[in-house]
Amino acid sequence: MATTTQLNTQPLSSNTHKWVYLFNEGNAKMRDLLGGKGAGLSEMTNAGLPVPPGFTITTEACRAYLANGKRFPEGMWEQTLDALHKVEAETGKRLGDPQNPLLVSVRSGAKFSMPGMMDTILNLGLNSDTLQGLVKLTGNERFAYDAYRRFIQLFGRIVMGVEAKHFDSLLDKAKEEKGMKLDTDLSAEDLQKLVEQFKAVVQREAGRPFPDDPYEQLRLAIEAVFGSWNSPRAFAYRNAQDIPHDLGTAVNVVMMVFGNMGNDSGTGVAFTRNPASGEREMYGEFVVNAEGEDVVAGIRTPQKISQLQETMPEVYSRFGEIGQRLENHYRDMQDMEFTVERGKLYMLQTRSGKRTAAAAVKMAVEMEGEGLISKEEALQRVEPGHVVQLLLPRYDEGAKEQARNEGRLLAKGLNAAPGAATGRAIFTADKAAELGRNGEAVVLVREETNPEDVHGMIAAKGVLTARGGATSHAAVVARQFGKVCVAGAENGGLHVDDEAGYFTAGGRTVHEGEVISIDGTTGEVFLGPIALIEPKFEEEHDLITLLGWADEVRRLGVWANADYPRDASKAVAFGAEGIGLCRTEHMFFEEERLPLVRRMILSAAEGTRLLEALSAAREELEGVEEGRRAQAEEALQKAQEAADNSQAVQDYRDALAQLGEIQQGDFYGVLKAMEGKPTVIRLLDPPLHEFLPSHDELLVQTTEMRARGETESEEYRRKAQLLEIVSGMREQNPMLGLRGCRLGILYPAINEMQVRAILQASLQLLNEGLESHPEIMIPLVGHVNELKVVRDILEDVAREVVEEAGREVPYKFGTMIEVPRAALTAGQIAEYAEFFSYGTNDLTQTTYGYSRDDAEGKFLLQYVERGVLPENPFQVLDREGVGRLVKIGVDEGRKTRPDLKIGICGEHGGDPSSIQFCHQAGLDYVSCSPYRVPVARLAAAQAALAEVEKDK
Ligand code: PEP
Ligand code: MG
Repeated sequence: MATTTQLNTQPLSSNTHKWVYLFNEGNAKMRDLLGGKGAGLSEMTNAGLPVPPGFTITTEACRAYLANGKRFPEGMWEQTLDALHKVEAETGKRLGDPQNPLLVSVRSGAKFSMPGMMDTILNLGLNSDTLQGLVKLTGNERFAYDAYRRFIQLFGRIVMGVEAKHFDSLLDKAKEEKGMKLDTDLSAEDLQKLVEQFKAVVQREAGRPFPDDPYEQLRLAIEAVFGSWNSPRAFAYRNAQDIPHDLGTAVNVVMMVFGNMGNDSGTGVAFTRNPASGEREMYGEFVVNAEGEDVVAGIRTPQKISQLQETMPEVYSRFGEIGQRLENHYRDMQDMEFTVERGKLYMLQTRSGKRTAAAAVKMAVEMEGEGLISKEEALQRVEPGHVVQLLLPRYDEGAKEQARNEGRLLAKGLNAAPGAATGRAIFTADKAAELGRNGEAVVLVREETNPEDVHGMIAAKGVLTARGGATSHAAVVARQFGKVCVAGAENGGLHVDDEAGYFTAGGRTVHEGEVISIDGTTGEVFLGPIALIEPKFEEEHDLITLLGWADEVRRLGVWANADYPRDASKAVAFGAEGIGLCRTEHMFFEEERLPLVRRMILSAAEGTRLLEALSAAREELEGVEEGRRAQAEEALQKAQEAADNSQAVQDYRDALAQLGEIQQGDFYGVLKAMEGKPTVIRLLDPPLHEFLPSHDELLVQTTEMRARGETESEEYRRKAQLLEIVSGMREQNPMLGLRGCRLGILYPAINEMQVRAILQASLQLLNEGLESHPEIMIPLVGHVNELKVVRDILEDVAREVVEEAGREVPYKFGTMIEVPRAALTAGQIAEYAEFFSYGTNDLTQTTYGYSRDDAEGKFLLQYVERGVLPENPFQVLDREGVGRLVKIGVDEGRKTRPDLKIGICGEHGGDPSSIQFCHQAGLDYVSCSPYRVPVARLAAAQAALAEVEKDK
């Protein structure tokens, strides 16, 4: 080993560039140069924390190495050795010293985290001599040989290019021969034999011996880590994450510490606060005389961190103090890994810890109270998804803990759709659908789901699958329908045989019909029921505080879509500042009203024709010249008689009058619940056939009656007549047919009735001394003339009501922007609208040319699953297409009418990403379902804060 010895003794040249930083020479700001991990380790070291000593070779050195034909830049190796010697001096151990060997890890660490993409080597420094030192120091031969065989395996694969399978097959063979399953079952002797076999494999496959010289090991390992920056998987990862390819990785060389050096050693993981409840207490686990891996392999049962207080009181208090310091330093709850080696505590890592929704909210609010973070930071600490989760039923944390202690935790899969679902495990969609319809709580368990399972998924409380990821069919559909989902649980040891009707997990077999509980927020699967918490918004005090701060920060208003007084009241309780969409058709669908609505629709065409003829005759008479007066009078009389004698006109008028009264009551209730807040009421929108009996059913019924010879019966006549009208109203594409303002133009009396009812309800409230601010919305406008015609008619009605009342009755007229043409001609449309509301459900349908009902059932979910579309555009607003139209509409509309009020009332109004877009596009408010109002308040605040950040 002449070359390395020579390198070892080379003097450090004094005037070279600095390539290597000891941990006490760096800090958190040096991520570019030291990478994320190196900067973090430096920061901890400088904060005075006990970090294992080590150093970082810079990203700059990596770049120079790669640019330099894979040669270390001048001075780098010497500086590496110099740093190493300083580490040796600090630890009293030496690389390659058989008595007291220093072992190191060599880890990659780029500026941006690239988990698992580059290489790490552990236990470097081992050879047959230092191994003996390790045996002596640990008193554990098995551990030492295991460390050595792992080192050869890792180094052989990563540095020397030996394929993993060669090592794996030897390891499997060793276990097989002894009839064992786990690596940990192998004895020191077995491992010693493996070490020899592994070395032979390296010689055979790499054509050179496994290096014994620790300095050569180190040099080769550094080269390998540098080289791994350009490995195909790292390259692909950077492409996917938009990370530049020219950054390079730093290399961290860190002293290895071992937790299995006796009863005064151990290893653990702890959080500075309880990550489940958010409580301010040290929370975690510790294992005496063990390595982290032993805990993962489940061969050692960890104890609670608090027990450390008795077994290692000094370590415990030091650790508590460090935790507090780290939390203060990073100003967030920390998730820390640590090892105790012979009574000495080492911090291996610290990072902001993952947390449940409840904990996120509690911690954010409490940390603000403690002066640790500002209100703005508190708002950014909570994800909108946390708010959703907090308002969903969830499992009681204590009950879950107990279930875990009872061994009822079966598996852990992917947390694909949040919430808690307890029910009988059912293995086929048909059976789940049948039981679900009968009110039974079921969880559909499948190997994976496909479109044929959707009816079962809808009927189930939740879905559990063995295979599939976050965008698998099960996950996408579950989120779509608000079902709980744990997906891909086979990685957590769950195997489903859905044909045989059972699954196995956690050493148990669960048969069809047994009760299971799945937690879609954590991915856990439990046997048996677990106590649920049904959240009450008014009791979520921390959330209420946080949302109060959100209201101070956000610019966007948050309104709600609500059709009934009870929904309106709920929305106000959740913090809604108005109603952005009251869909009046929902009132029509109520069972006792339907006959009246049908009467109105069935008589609408004929009734309108005769009534329009009557008013045309009146107009004619008004402007007629004297000579033709008698003729005009006669025509009017005829028109009057035709109308008076028409059953259709009578039905139409009666139905409208009765519905008008009912609607006045409806609007009174909603407006009263809104306590004077702006309330956008949309005039009738859907195609009328939705209120009528089905054409196909009527056809079957009349055909059957004819076959039975019942054509003379009264019922047959009635049905045949109905069929004729329904046939006449049939459309090929009703969603693009006679609906929205088109109805208002053809059958104006319906809109007139609604506007009268709205204003009279409002008047009633004003007369009671209450406030009322209705805003009347005309749907589906595509051409300015549509709006003009409808508005002119309705303004007359409004004026009439105001005149009759003899007092001010405030109201506004506005329109929905929900077809592309409306967005593109928004400048013209704004002349006749005091407000716009983007109906992004229809705008998405018409922009993409997808019929939502068909698309979601037939192909859209597959599109998302296969990555054809990044998301379902009916859930997350498509910024490039639909969003572009929204922006055009905002710009054009405000050019015409600078004070134009603009909102959104499609379902996107409750989606955080879409809300951010609405903020950026300059909308005034978002409107969403009452339950999404709290989420929208937070998301709107975060959008405002993100903008401030950007402008900094
Ligand atoms: C819309 O199109 O976005 C909208 C709110 O109207 P609807 O969903 O009732 O068609
Ligand atoms: Mg619409």
